[in-house]
Amino acid sequence: MPHTPAYATQSADKPLGPHAIERRAPGAHDVAIEILFCGVCHSDLHTARNEWGGTQYPCVPGHEIVGTVTAVGKGVKKFKTGDTVGVGCMVDSCGHCASCTSGEENYCENGFTGTYDSALPGGGHTFGGYSTRIVVDERFVLRIPHKRNLAAVAPLLCAGITTYSPLRHWHVGPGKKVGIVGLGGLGHMGVKLAHAMGAHVVLFTTSPGKIADGKRLGADEVVISKDAADVARHARSLDFILDTVAAPHDLNAYLKLLRLDGTMCLVGAPPTSTAHPGLAAFSLITNRRGLAGSLIGGVRETQEMLDFCAAHDIVCDIETIAMRDINTAYERMLKSDVKYRFVIDMQTLKDEAHAG
Ligand code: NAP
Ligand code: ZN
Repeated sequence: MPHTPAYATQSADKPLGPHAIERRAPGAHDVAIEILFCGVCHSDLHTARNEWGGTQYPCVPGHEIVGTVTAVGKGVKKFKTGDTVGVGCMVDSCGHCASCTSGEENYCENGFTGTYDSALPGGGHTFGGYSTRIVVDERFVLRIPHKRNLAAVAPLLCAGITTYSPLRHWHVGPGKKVGIVGLGGLGHMGVKLAHAMGAHVVLFTTSPGKIADGKRLGADEVVISKDAADVARHARSLDFILDTVAAPHDLNAYLKLLRLDGTMCLVGAPPTSTAHPGLAAFSLITNRRGLAGSLIGGVRETQEMLDFCAAHDIVCDIETIAMRDINTAYERMLKSDVKYRFVIDMQTLKDEAHAG
């Protein structure tokens, strides 16, 4: 499938713009997908601007993909033409290491192949969902159980699974008091999912303008994190904290809120040139606290999350944008001005390519 329209950036300091890519012809186990919607993750921005290092250009971001199957290879069993499907952050993994065989391809010991910006065995690198089509091995394609509102389903493929997986791993549920730090794309899903799992949810936000939304989305309490006294009111009371913040900040202030054996899990991944300011040993020693991290989720758990969201009528709160507005969307994301995920309507790229 030559000349697939896409949006790419050619270097860390350049905006994204139109760029034609090639997709492989579907092999025996491949699913060819026409992309309908693609969410805009803060990781797209970190990668496009080389904030984690190692970005390969041209870079076509996008790993929150929902689309329609247009063709399947001979060996494909799970999908057929016309199905509505999703693709998240991974498109391949080794398939035989301990992590892969236990269904945690996201921790593949040989490194999974990311949907974008991952090296390919034959040279070149993967291109993501800011494009009109993608071809993916069926092992990494998800069933979309939702019947409507597909644009708002797309961000579940990263923001949804990245919050669902740690909430499940640390047994969030009824009787647990859970803190969510940051109300962006990930944070708003953290609030919705922790609420749906039956926990008492405390949202910590830097944005006073998000208090009402926080409560509407499922938070039982909202704390303005710049108000140290209000934060301190929750000292030694939380079982689990999920930190989704995309910038460096003081972790000690949150660790102090954990009760005995409580854990704080980082999913936010600030630029590697920056670091969270000094971690005080006593923040952990006191109350035998844990500080952990979590990376997206495996394919099986991603399907479980999609099914959970469909059963609980959960989708993301989104603002749909045209492909050509992606650079403005990145600037707004940096100002925490997104409620709560931008999603690209890929028809706008098809129209743009057709007109051009
Ligand atoms: P986002 O939509 O931009 O949300 C980040 C939120 O963090 C903002 O809305 C804001 O919430 C808060 N924030 C921003 N700057 C802050 C600062 N200086 N101090 C305190 N709070 C601040 O980003 P996202 O897409 O949710 O992604 C969040 C982070 O997770 C990114 O670093 C991303 O790369 C990473 N990520 C990790 C994984 C993983 O597998 N671990 C997967 C996807 C994304 P308030 O306005 O409420 O304060
Ligand atoms: Zn993401």
